[in-house]
Amino acid sequence: MEYHDDNVDQNGSNNNSIKQQELIEISSVLRRTSESSLNSLESINEPNRKRLKVMEQTKYSMYNDFEDTAILKKRESLNYRRQRISELRSKISTLITKKEEHELRNYELEEKYSSLKKGLALIESQIEEINDIGQSSMERLREKLVVEKKAARANHDQQVNSMKEKYTAEAETIINKYEQEYAEKLKTLVAQSNHLKGEIKSEDQEHNRNLIKLKEDYHKKLISESTKIDENIRHIKDKLVNEELEIKRKAIDYKNTEDILKNDLTSTNTRLNGLYSQISSKFSNKESEIDLLRHTIINKKNQIDEITSNFNLKSNKITEHKQKVELINKKLTNYENKRRYLHNRLQELKGNIRVFCRVRYVPESIDKLSLIEIADDDINENANQEIIISKNQDDGSKYSNSYGLSNINNNSYTFQFDKVFNMNSTNAGIFEEISQLIQSSLDGYNVCVFAYGQTGSGKTYTMSQPQDGMIPLSLNKIFEDIEDLKSKGWSYTVEGQFIEIYNENIIDLLTPNGINGKYEIKHDDIENKTIVTNVQTIQLKSESHANSILETATRNRSTASTKANDRSSRSHSIYIFKLQGINSAKGISCQGTLNLIDLAGSERLVSSQAKGDRLKETQAINKSLSCLGDVIYALGQKQNNGGQHIPYRNSKLTYLLKHSLGGNSKTLMFVNVSPLQKNLNETINSLRFATKVNTTKLQPSRPSSR
Ligand code: ADP
Ligand code: MG
Repeated sequence: MEYHDDNVDQNGSNNNSIKQQELIEISSVLRRTSESSLNSLESINEPNRKRLKVMEQTKYSMYNDFEDTAILKKRESLNYRRQRISELRSKISTLITKKEEHELRNYELEEKYSSLKKGLALIESQIEEINDIGQSSMERLREKLVVEKKAARANHDQQVNSMKEKYTAEAETIINKYEQEYAEKLKTLVAQSNHLKGEIKSEDQEHNRNLIKLKEDYHKKLISESTKIDENIRHIKDKLVNEELEIKRKAIDYKNTEDILKNDLTSTNTRLNGLYSQISSKFSNKESEIDLLRHTIINKKNQIDEITSNFNLKSNKITEHKQKVELINKKLTNYENKRRYLHNRLQELKGNIRVFCRVRYVPESIDKLSLIEIADDDINENANQEIIISKNQDDGSKYSNSYGLSNINNNSYTFQFDKVFNMNSTNAGIFEEISQLIQSSLDGYNVCVFAYGQTGSGKTYTMSQPQDGMIPLSLNKIFEDIEDLKSKGWSYTVEGQFIEIYNENIIDLLTPNGINGKYEIKHDDIENKTIVTNVQTIQLKSESHANSILETATRNRSTASTKANDRSSRSHSIYIFKLQGINSAKGISCQGTLNLIDLAGSERLVSSQAKGDRLKETQAINKSLSCLGDVIYALGQKQNNGGQHIPYRNSKLTYLLKHSLGGNSKTLMFVNVSPLQKNLNETINSLRFATKVNTTKLQPSRPSSR
């Protein structure tokens, strides 16, 4: 490029020297002419004077030519600069394309990540199901089998034993009974026969005695009583025969009784044998039942074996799945790390300080600024969106010259911001643009979100509108993300502080009467932490808990405001959320802070018109807002030029946010503006302030700041 410049110079100087030579020649002609003219002074006449005039005009035109050449040179250098500008523009557009590519990649990764997560959850539930089914069916079968086996065996043993006992006892009692009866009958028969034998014997003896006596008597009365004796003998002989018959009969009786008894015994035996065979057949029945049971047991065993092999197959599959899941988990962790990295890069590319402009909604019927235009295209070559405000032509005189803006062009002002939201934008739509910042605070960054603008421009509506303001939506997102991060091994604690700064004094919105004592801001510059002494810190356990605390703080703010004549528009409200995450599996932790701030109304209050409390308030607001601008500006300068003092201490607001502005932190400012004609003055002021913030952004990744 230097070479190009030289070339331009060389060409220029060549032309110049030719022209200079011409000039010299002309002037020498002139000189000669004038000399000759002088010599012939008297002969000077009108034609000569005219000629001289023409000559002089030629000389001046030559001089003009010379000046044109200089302009040409400038034009060329201008062209060169234009070329440079277009090169820079093309660089910027490449950067934008890169940024979009990153965004796309991030989106794809997130999509992939969520589908992987779903797949993982499905696999896990399948594994659990399989595990449960396999284990429970195994256990049920085992238990059932054991119980059945035991019961069958016990039942069988019991039945056999009881039958054995029963029949043995029955047989024994019957045999005993019959043996006893038999023995007794035998005994009586023997006794009877003994008795009879004894009787026979004694009768024999008596008979012998009688015989001897009779013989003696016979001998004595042989003659006299021989017939009588014979008769007696016969009689006695008959008697003897009878008695012998009786004995024989009795012996037959005995024999008969014996036979009967023998028969009885035999029949009892047969009956017992029958019983025995009955028992035996029952026994064999039981044995076949046992065989059946054994068979069933073998079948069951086979079934168990089959189930076990199935189970083994399934558990192998489960191990395989587990390995796959582990692999997926590893991949997920990698993706998560990559996502965190890309997310941060994306935020960096977007700039660590970003400014979003929001135009407040007003109904159609109300007279708005005659033209408030937001360029339709997404972003311009500076990766910005434009807002063009045109003055109402009829009203021009009223506002002319009041801003001293250099960019006034045909009565319109153009501003550029990272994003411009028109009147019809919704809080939910806006939150989509800032939700990634909230994620950054969970990743361990300090994040500040401000709302700046005049009273009535929609700051509180943007930040605190119940349900869909940035504050409630941020809390929802925090608790949603915390839930998601649990599956990646992270557990978080969320602490909240709810503060108001009014007249440079801190008020604890959870202790509005200030009973806790003195509030002091203290910094730990090594840990990059800030604490405010005595301010209530609430551990927010859930989304609903956080919302109820938020309600209390907001209620206290508006109560104080009603008492003190709309104090809320003249105080800054700062909601501080400290997010501490621990991943014990990986042994890492992170701590981020999210500050959500609704600033005091930025309207220019002219101090000279305010008195007393109003004057104090005005000074406090002017001071803190201008100090906020100064701090952000100084941070930008420091980054570009190095080692500069940042005036954090100049206001409570900036001092409190020392560790959340600049450095590695991320800042987003909403500039809220009213579209009403009557607010034009303040609208332009706010947009100017925001422009100052926007143009001093910290962009560590942009080549310009290297
Ligand atoms: P600020 O906090 O800046 O003083 P507010 O948020 O209180 O302003 O807004 C002023 C009024 O305008 C409120 O009544 C609010 O409800 C209303 N308002 C602001 N922005 C919107 C919007 N986008 N849609 C509907 N109403 C709005
Ligand atoms: Mg407000």
